[in-house]
Amino acid sequence: MSKNKKSYLMPTYGKRNLEFVRGQGCYLYTSKNSKYLDFGAGIAVNSFGHCHPTLVKTLQTQAKRLWHTSNLYLNPVQEMYAKLICKNSFAEKIFFTNSGAESIECGIKVIRSYHFYHKNYSKKNILTFEGAFHGRTFAALSAQKNKKYSEGFGPLIPGFVKVPFNDFKALKKAINKNTAAVLIEPIQGEGGIRPAELKFLQQLSLICKKNDALLFLDEIQCGFGRSGKLFSHEWANIKPDLVATAKGIGSGFPMGACLATKKASIGMIKGTHGSTYGGNPLAICIGKKVLELILKKDFLKKVDSNARYLWKKLKILEKKYDEILEIRGAGFLLGIKTKRKNTEVIQAISKNKLLLIAASENIIRLAPPLIVTKIEIDNAIFIIEKTLNELND
Ligand SMILES: *Cc1c(COP(=O)(O)O)cnc(C)c1O
Repeated sequence: MSKNKKSYLMPTYGKRNLEFVRGQGCYLYTSKNSKYLDFGAGIAVNSFGHCHPTLVKTLQTQAKRLWHTSNLYLNPVQEMYAKLICKNSFAEKIFFTNSGAESIECGIKVIRSYHFYHKNYSKKNILTFEGAFHGRTFAALSAQKNKKYSEGFGPLIPGFVKVPFNDFKALKKAINKNTAAVLIEPIQGEGGIRPAELKFLQQLSLICKKNDALLFLDEIQCGFGRSGKLFSHEWANIKPDLVATAKGIGSGFPMGACLATKKASIGMIKGTHGSTYGGNPLAICIGKKVLELILKKDFLKKVDSNARYLWKKLKILEKKYDEILEIRGAGFLLGIKTKRKNTEVIQAISKNKLLLIAASENIIRLAPPLIVTKIEIDNAIFIIEKTLNELND
């Protein structure tokens, strides 16, 4: 859409210049067949790149069989997929959604219903963190308390208390008998690729147990393999009560899931929640296949070692270029902090055919498909370096 033409879309996404008509692996192609290396992966979504042959085949087969029946009917594949998630994680119960924000909403309902079930009527407050991003629905906006997303949309929902990130002292002061849960991203994405310290997550886990508060992790961006483990909280060796997921779960098919322990989800009885589309046959067959691919022997090991390779290469650039102030993040969710405005650098890099995404705190985010190879990583580094040299000229 050129800027002079009238648009029928709400202009919520601002100006967009690039149009892609085709994708293959880690590459996107314009109508003029110009090839871009995609290190944004649809905002950390396309974990198996574009048009992965196995996923294409899975979708085509299912498309000829059955699309949608609603949750009024039995869905044995949904049950099998939920079991597969549970067998490979802390989870014992799953609710399927269509997006990240819906997984957050579901988790908040689980929290409220848990304390209602136990007649702890005063336990309503959920502690959340500065720099958090949990989505665009009202509960998510209220949880963030970030003007950037919520200005003009009030009144927000009460019951959320914001505390500083990675600051256990402050958290300890904020948690009390009215605390229902703590909601945190193990790696803040939109907030600027800020990992929670593993020790902080461990302290959180302990203090939540002590206060009968549920630990609710938002792994929408950092989950499903992006950190090098299936879920990023595994690095801290903790057992959460709830995890919200989406993005990488379907590698581009719109879906999400709220994962819970049996104990946490005790209040979610018949009629308490629902979704027309959530867990529909098309989504389920893709989600199940994505998980099977992630669980293949040595897949995550390779993600971890390739992510460390990318990290090492970025650290070399950090040393070499004054323009780079910091490298941060974990796994394949990494950030470069630059002196110049991040969007200016991203635009210059994109002219050299590498796609990256901005995040808060002037961060340039790298979130390549999990299947990215060392050669493609070398290419990305080459393009970043070339662009930095051009900017210096
Ligand atoms: C993207 C994201 C969300 C919101 O997901 P939607 O699918 O856009 O609703 C929530 N939390 C985190 C950490 C995210 O990265």
